[in-house]
Amino acid sequence: MYDYLIVGAGIYGAVCAHELHKRGYRVLVVEKKDHIGGNIYTECIEGIHVHKYGAHIFHTNDRRVWDYVNQFADFNRYTNSPVANYKGELYSLPFNMYTFNRMWGVITPDEAEARIAGQRQSYIESRASEMGIAPEEFVPSNLEEQAISLVGTDIYERLIKGYTEKQWGRRCSDLPSSIIRRLPVRLTYDNNYFNALYQGIPIGGYTRMTERMLDGIEVRTGVDYLDPPVRIALEKQAKRIIYTGPIDAFYYYKLGYLEYRSLRFEEELIEKENYQGNAVINYTDADTPYTRIVEHKWFEFGLDASGQSIPVTLISREYSLEWKPGVESYYPIGDERNMALYNRYRELAGREERSFIGGRLGEYKYYDMDTAVARALELTDSLTRES
Ligand SMILES: Cc1cc2nc3c(=O)[nH]c(=O)nc-3n(C[C@H](O)[C@H](O)[C@H](O)COP(=O)(O)OP(=O)(O)OC[C@H]3O[C@@H](n4cnc5c(N)ncnc54)[C@H](O)[C@@H]3O)c2cc1C
Repeated sequence: MYDYLIVGAGIYGAVCAHELHKRGYRVLVVEKKDHIGGNIYTECIEGIHVHKYGAHIFHTNDRRVWDYVNQFADFNRYTNSPVANYKGELYSLPFNMYTFNRMWGVITPDEAEARIAGQRQSYIESRASEMGIAPEEFVPSNLEEQAISLVGTDIYERLIKGYTEKQWGRRCSDLPSSIIRRLPVRLTYDNNYFNALYQGIPIGGYTRMTERMLDGIEVRTGVDYLDPPVRIALEKQAKRIIYTGPIDAFYYYKLGYLEYRSLRFEEELIEKENYQGNAVINYTDADTPYTRIVEHKWFEFGLDASGQSIPVTLISREYSLEWKPGVESYYPIGDERNMALYNRYRELAGREERSFIGGRLGEYKYYDMDTAVARALELTDSLTRES
């Protein structure tokens, strides 16, 4: 008899398994896919750790989480500095003084601030006059209005509009303003995308890091817990269950489906050393069909495990994709309908006596990896405190 059955070998399930095993509990992990790691799975191809489910950069302000993951991997000094390509013009991200210098030729923060303020003001005035109201009364009613009233027309047109429309498969003027609450504008020459104290990529890949978390624990891949006979058999073998798959699937969708946006990746191995000169380049125009190209080797500075330059490269073109049941779930759609449905599932989950539903799919929430680790530690702390 196992003390815990853990469904899902993503980072959340792996941290739960590690913590429970460390405290002496008998743990079994089952994973539907044929590999561990979930979304953070990396595969080594020609010496390059390929992020198979999209680029993953570990970043956190939480010292406890940073120390925690560093038990399982050494992290390199990678700093995420993506570049935006708008019709062949290259801009630094996130929006910062390099971006504004390229866009308007401005040099100082005051000049950049004045440009942005001027564009915001004239947009709000012209929209208000079209609507026959005073500028102070203007309230953005969709994403386009919200974005322009935050950062002005140029940044919106070149860096936000096309990218966002590809991401959501809808026009910005048809998307709710709530998607963009803030658009951070950095008035410094700083291309570091994340405002985090700690950042990096695990040397040797995320899969190796997950393997170390699961060291000494029984893991069965290729097992779908929701296959009814499998579920019945597994539930007889464990006292408690930690389930990290989609919460609606746990209940066989009896209240309806929760919706997501999905992604599709097109990988290409290229017989040259350097394709685009950066790990991540976003294509922010509407005509390029993909949202970004990831060149995986630059997460590790183009070097293999022995520090040698890798003569080939591997890129992934990332396309945003309409989600339907059966397609890989990436980004939860946190609109009213889905959140109301999620809350009804959560209510059911609250009544479970021996099953605990967590992780990004279980909580129907976009989580960064550090939050997934922190949430898993919270759960295992509370479970082991009470027993
Ligand atoms: C495109 C993209 C990019 C991202 N980039 C970053 C980033 O740069 N930095 C960052 O911090 N975070 C990033 N994230 C977030 C990160 O992926 C998540 O925080 C993390 O993967 C959550 O882990 P998890 O274990 O909760 O979920 P998952 O990794 O999804 O693991 C859940 C596991 O459960 C398994 N499972 C589901 N159902 C069953 C079943 N019935 N039976 C058995 N197994 C089952 C699944 O196969 C899966 O392996 C990104 C996310 C996406 C979508």
